[in-house]
Amino acid sequence: FEPWTDPAQKPLIRFKSVTKKFGDFTAIDDLTLDIFEQEFFALLGPSGCGKTTMMRMLAGFEKPTSGVIELAGADIAPLPPNKRAVNMMFQSYALFPHLTVYENIAFGLRRDRVSSDALDARVSEMLKLTRLEKFAQRKPHQISGGQRQRVALARSLAKAPKLLLLDEPLGALDAKLRQATQFELMDIQEKTGTTFVIVTHDQEEAMTVASRVAVMDEGRIMQVETPERIYEAPNSLYVADFIGEVNIISGTARAVGDEQFHIDWAEGNAPFVATSSRPFSEGQPCHLALRPEKVSIHAERPETAENAVHGKILDIAYLGNLSTYHVELPGGQIIKAQTANTRRVSRRSYTWEDTVWLSWTSTAGVLLPE
Ligand code: ATP
Repeated sequence: FEPWTDPAQKPLIRFKSVTKKFGDFTAIDDLTLDIFEQEFFALLGPSGCGKTTMMRMLAGFEKPTSGVIELAGADIAPLPPNKRAVNMMFQSYALFPHLTVYENIAFGLRRDRVSSDALDARVSEMLKLTRLEKFAQRKPHQISGGQRQRVALARSLAKAPKLLLLDEPLGALDAKLRQATQFELMDIQEKTGTTFVIVTHDQEEAMTVASRVAVMDEGRIMQVETPERIYEAPNSLYVADFIGEVNIISGTARAVGDEQFHIDWAEGNAPFVATSSRPFSEGQPCHLALRPEKVSIHAERPETAENAVHGKILDIAYLGNLSTYHVELPGGQIIKAQTANTRRVSRRSYTWEDTVWLSWTSTAGVLLPE
């Protein structure tokens, strides 16, 4: 993994070879990462990979065992949590139940003894930003869950932190509200220009809101790039498998031309063709990560396809706008193919036990080493 840098962007946060140990256990393993100013950044990974530990180190609740974390060019280690230009919004929101929405938002400013005019101006600005003007005098139990979430956001932005940490910020909301709130979060992040770092278990959420996503595993970053690159060009089997659905087709490579490979595999007699800018040597084991929507399904053998195999439909998952077909090849491998349910396709839909042909182009997948 090579940290990706763009000279046009200024890093706000720099992790420099940061390791965090709890006793013998390494929670963060020699991690180097830049997070830029005004960026909406997501940390994504399975439970226990170290996401919360990263957030806690940024907030100041934990110190690295070794390495340095910089905020705006200065080591943050000597600064206690309340002296950092960092705020953290918790999943539980932690609103004060006996205070009004207004007073909840004003709380941090009052503690800092901000003048009453400046305080009122700032709270009004935050109420407007989060569309809560009408609810200023209500208590938290008199507003909806979505509105409470916005109060928590307004409160954490009131002191204009350079960095806002969001730990599962939408976890308490139902699916529909969650989606609407994702767009709202993006809008507020853009308007304030604050750097947001979000931790979420929901990969779709991370891909929706974030400008860049870091995929983590066991205290290390496996890939950090835009959501599109993470999905379209995963750099490892781990990332390909972690994000979205994927077929992994394994075989051995044979170079046949400029960035062209024939892959010998267990299915059928013919190799399949794949394009890859990453070099593979003769006979090197490799895996094609192929997204289901890149596999086409046909009733007859598609004569012009670069790669075509036949198989039998085992299962169909109907998802409304899409259908996913699980097709078993003669050798036993199951390939998932996803089609959009436009009218044209649904008129000619396939059913269980049908024998069908699957095809994909040589550029449809990503060829990865072991
Ligand atoms: P989740 O998604 O479940 O919240 P996470 O990716 O946020 O997981 P962390 O909470 O950062 O993971 O934990 C990373 C690892 O460090 C885990 O294996 C955890 O058990 C361990 N860990 C975290 N805090 C401590 C601690 N105070 N003492 C010992 N081990 C800890």
